[in-house]
Amino acid sequence: MRNVEEFELIIVGGGPAGLCAAMYAGRGMLKAVLLERGVPGGELLNTEWIDDYPGFEHVLGRELAQKMTSHAAAFGADIRQENVEGIARRDDGVFEVTTAGGTIYQAPAVILTAGGTPTKLEVPGELEYAGRGVSYCAVCDGAFFKGETIAVVGGGDAAVEEADYLTRYAEKVYVIHRRDEFRASKILQERLFANPKIEVIWNKRVLELTGTPAGLQSLLLEDTLTGGITTLEATGCFVFIGFRPNTGLVKEHFAHDSSGYIVTDDRMMTSIPGLFAAGDLRVQLTRQVTTAVGDATTAAIAVEKYLKDRQGRVLGVKVGV
Ligand code: NAP
Repeated sequence: MRNVEEFELIIVGGGPAGLCAAMYAGRGMLKAVLLERGVPGGELLNTEWIDDYPGFEHVLGRELAQKMTSHAAAFGADIRQENVEGIARRDDGVFEVTTAGGTIYQAPAVILTAGGTPTKLEVPGELEYAGRGVSYCAVCDGAFFKGETIAVVGGGDAAVEEADYLTRYAEKVYVIHRRDEFRASKILQERLFANPKIEVIWNKRVLELTGTPAGLQSLLLEDTLTGGITTLEATGCFVFIGFRPNTGLVKEHFAHDSSGYIVTDDRMMTSIPGLFAAGDLRVQLTRQVTTAVGDATTAAIAVEKYLKDRQGRVLGVKVGV
């Protein structure tokens, strides 16, 4: 028989948004649970240094993750290691969150903060050399490339920031971008251009990754303007070309944009009543730690109001009002 547990709020995902929502839920005295499949921290755990979180000029990602976790726990957050498999809303407005461990969590409100998954290049050799040269996480894998020549693909904040980080290990870092300008923020670009170990290769897309059974050796590149083909020797290829929001857990249709990011209203509520979304999987201009915790603050406070209104409606029905 499956174990069923009832709450007022279920938070799915334990990154900065989830941890912040859990802290506010604790302060609001809600009976809430946070479900996270791994160690809480989310993308913070894939980032070496954070230097744009107010109050912390320079803090290790994992340190900030620990601080956020203990801060949420100090307000009574119930954080559980669970792999969520599905989120479905019943006709009575109660959500059922099913987990691989077999427990069904029930609550009238859910805040989804499950972040995203790195976008793949989808070129030949990418799968074959994953873990043998191809990586999506500089902090996790950078140290394997001490003294080597590596490539970073992408032109956003992640690619530009991580290329700079990777020069502490690699001898040479090529940044391959498909256009002739980065979309990354100016301060990150300045850092990258000032780094003598980095060379930018503009207007090139990766066609194929090739190597030997021992690992990656080179990238086949196509010039996006001329169509010319060149080869770049590199033993590492770090791919930072965005990510896809992890929204597949939600069984019902919800409003989203053309890239699959969830549309919310100004309370962070999705088109499904009682389902709130916060952080990287939500449609918004930028995705920072600061915006994730901002979303989560709004969502957690909106949930309190939603639950009060819902209780009023339920009581109203019961007494025939
Ligand atoms: P992003 O901002 O969406 O940038 C993705 C980059 O990859 C773009 O330059 C894009 O090129 C390129 N790209 C996309 N598909 C590609 C493909 N198939 N082949 C080659 N290149 C491709 O993604 P992100 O850098 O992962 O950042 C995601 C969000 O997190 C952003 O909102 C960002 O601000 C935030 N973030 C912030 C920080 C920070 O502030 N420290 C750090 C990391 C991430 P085009 O430019 O040509 O479209």
